[in-house]
Amino acid sequence: MSIYCNDQQSLAEKISDKDVAASKWTDWHWQLRHSITRLETFERLLGIELDPKEKRRIDMTLKKFPMSITPYYLSLIDRADYRNDPVYRQAFPDPQELVIDSCDMTDPLAEDRDSPAPGITHRYPDRVLFHVSNVCSMYCRFCTRKRKVGDVDSIPDRNQIRAGIEYIRNTPEIRDVLLSGGDPLMLSDGLLDWILTEIGQIEHVQVIRIGTRMPVVLPYRITDELVGMLKKHHPLWINTHFNHPREMTSSAKAALKKLADAGIPLGNQSVLLAGVNDCQRIVKSLVHKLVENRVRPYYLYQCDLSEGLSHFRTPVGKGIEIMESLIGHTSGFSVPTYVIDAPGGGGKIPINPTYMISLSTNKVVLRNYEGVITTYQEPDSYNRKFCDRNCGACDLQLKLEEGQETDVTGIEMLLADCHEAISLTPEENQRMERRDDN
Ligand SMILES: *Cc1c(COP(=O)(O)O)cnc(C)c1O
Repeated sequence: MSIYCNDQQSLAEKISDKDVAASKWTDWHWQLRHSITRLETFERLLGIELDPKEKRRIDMTLKKFPMSITPYYLSLIDRADYRNDPVYRQAFPDPQELVIDSCDMTDPLAEDRDSPAPGITHRYPDRVLFHVSNVCSMYCRFCTRKRKVGDVDSIPDRNQIRAGIEYIRNTPEIRDVLLSGGDPLMLSDGLLDWILTEIGQIEHVQVIRIGTRMPVVLPYRITDELVGMLKKHHPLWINTHFNHPREMTSSAKAALKKLADAGIPLGNQSVLLAGVNDCQRIVKSLVHKLVENRVRPYYLYQCDLSEGLSHFRTPVGKGIEIMESLIGHTSGFSVPTYVIDAPGGGGKIPINPTYMISLSTNKVVLRNYEGVITTYQEPDSYNRKFCDRNCGACDLQLKLEEGQETDVTGIEMLLADCHEAISLTPEENQRMERRDDN
């Protein structure tokens, strides 16, 4: 199998003005050194000429949101129909990025506000996002962290990373650390090895995850050396980011195979993008290619409210329509969870088509993917146990070592027997404020 095709070879020659051996093309450092950041290079390589007026508008866009495309990812663009090409649309700037909607925000997920230590976003009780890099090999035009792209001031140095690790060490409820960025695989193997070792030594950390788009935009980053290093750090999970079946090339497959063969469970997070993958058939074809390559579709994201993304957003109904076409129609493990990441930092909220149509005190009425309506008869007698969270005294067997769990919060708290709360009230509720006055 040759992963260096004629098209790529001629592209490589145009890039460096000389013969380029396959070993250069597949060298990730070579790819990074030759990333396409200038409009003129893009035009020359694709053999296209943009209209001068359009070029000026794109130049303005680039001043705000820089461009960087690996030669490999560029080589996937279909030159005959580049404007509709899903790779082109994900990688090439569009003047519509300068349009700012009234609902747009620079940090819609409040990642900076929920940051107790450098690079750490601590949103959920038991896990953190740890930004160990702010650079990527390819700048996705739909990036939710666009505010940081190309911002050289926020490249975390070793001391900052050390401070993040210190926070994790001092926070015993963290059992899952998600390395993110930027792309963590932009770091050298050595630095990544050091970070994974440091975090791995923290007793309360049970799993580490890496979120990376390298298998999609620069699969040659997945070298034997990298994989050899990663597999010393199990349990390690990797989530990658394919958005379109066209991205599943032989090079991408080879990279995924190396990771999967090293025993690393692989997941995929896609973003629903207008003009790229807002189509049931595209998403279904994508998830099938993913599972064929041992990647479990994990999340399908509704596009965030970050600045400059309005042209990529779809109505939520498009996502529901896609979920409707997957659930029941294909293997359960091919179906991702469709989520909206709540603006303001509320975290990911799963949304699904509605399957429960009605219920009575002993029956639930449901519909399936075919539209068949069915009933589920509930048990007449269910020996409901009062739960005071004293697991040691319960006849269900859970021998917790510490006997302690994290506190109950939110809706779980309302449901819990052991908690007195009967309602959740928003802050600054006027009715409550009147009460306090009395
Ligand atoms: C997505 C995310 C996580 C991980 O969430 P999972 O649902 O466990 O994958 C953790 N922290 C932050 C801030 C996130 O955005």
